[in-house]
Amino acid sequence: MCEKFLDYLSKKKTWIFLIMCFMVHAGNSVLFFFVGLVPLSMLNILSTVFYSIVIVSYKEEKDFYIIFTYFEILTFSLTSELFSGGSFFYIFYVVGMISSVYYLLPPKRRMKQIFQGCGIIYAIAIYFIHIKQICIFPEYLPVIDECKQEIGLLNLCITLFTMFYISNLYFFEMNAANEKLTYCSDHDLMTGLFNRRFFEHIMQRNKTENENKYTIAIFDIDDFKKVNDTYGHQAGDAVLKAVSSIIEESYDNEFVTVRWGGEEFVLYMPQTDEIRAYEHLTYLRKRIENNIVEFDNQKIKVTVTVGMCTGTNLTDYELVIRNADDRLYYGKRNGKNCVVK
Ligand code: GH3
Ligand code: MG
Ligand code: MG
Repeated sequence: MCEKFLDYLSKKKTWIFLIMCFMVHAGNSVLFFFVGLVPLSMLNILSTVFYSIVIVSYKEEKDFYIIFTYFEILTFSLTSELFSGGSFFYIFYVVGMISSVYYLLPPKRRMKQIFQGCGIIYAIAIYFIHIKQICIFPEYLPVIDECKQEIGLLNLCITLFTMFYISNLYFFEMNAANEKLTYCSDHDLMTGLFNRRFFEHIMQRNKTENENKYTIAIFDIDDFKKVNDTYGHQAGDAVLKAVSSIIEESYDNEFVTVRWGGEEFVLYMPQTDEIRAYEHLTYLRKRIENNIVEFDNQKIKVTVTVGMCTGTNLTDYELVIRNADDRLYYGKRNGKNCVVK
């Protein structure tokens, strides 16, 4: 539920940020009107109208919106400080946005540092407005004095909330990206099976564990080159996916299927002796033989040759694989479409 919500926030990130800006400006328009700071209320009404137009015309997630919003916030903050004699701490927004723009824009954006540089210039300018108490509407100074603590606190709270929200969203996005990367490095993306690198990694890690009997089988599609030559490479891909699904869907989790190479698959069967493994592999061989792969109105049939070997200790799993491979090639030389034990 929470993941789904965060995923939604991440996908709609720009749009939600525009809405947040709209709400802050709309709220400020009303607030400053009632406090009696008409110029600031007018400035916020202008920004509210601006954001309304942007939100209504918004179509899709684009970096442009974030860049636009960023500079709007910087300029608005500077102008507001000039209106308030540097008393309302709009510098918080600028400081918050300098770090947030880094997260809000995608990693590939090269201009980020330049945008941040602009933010730093704005922040320094606002600091001097504050120090020198520059005010373009001095007649409002008594009203400003009365409410500056509350407005300053409000601006601090809005900035802190925004930074909390953006940094958590960024953390969620980074986690999701890492998970995706891990999946890509462990899997073959076409079939969704584990890849050879990952399989060898877990076997090396588990090498010290004593196992009961286990069996490793290597499948090789017969005359697969002909499938590619006759039906095309894409049809060949469809066959690879179909064969890998048949192998993978034949058990509930206890086995591991690996895309070993081009048209070769490894099936690792823990706690499986030779008799049970041979039965299962023969069942799979027959299923693959009887399966029809339909691609572009063509019906394609393939067979597999399987070499299998049973081991008693994971320390020698490499030898077990080599034996299975030798048996596979024995099967290839002796008519194919068979399981060799
Ligand atoms: P054998 O019965 O002796 O195994 O013959 P074979 O034709 O299956 O074996 P060979 O090694 O000659 O050819 C394997 C072919 O598999 C060659 C290669 O183009 C194809 N291949 C490897 N990976 C892929 C892939 O991801 N997609 C497709 N479509 N073809 C692939
Ligand atoms: Mg091969
Ligand atoms: Mg082959």
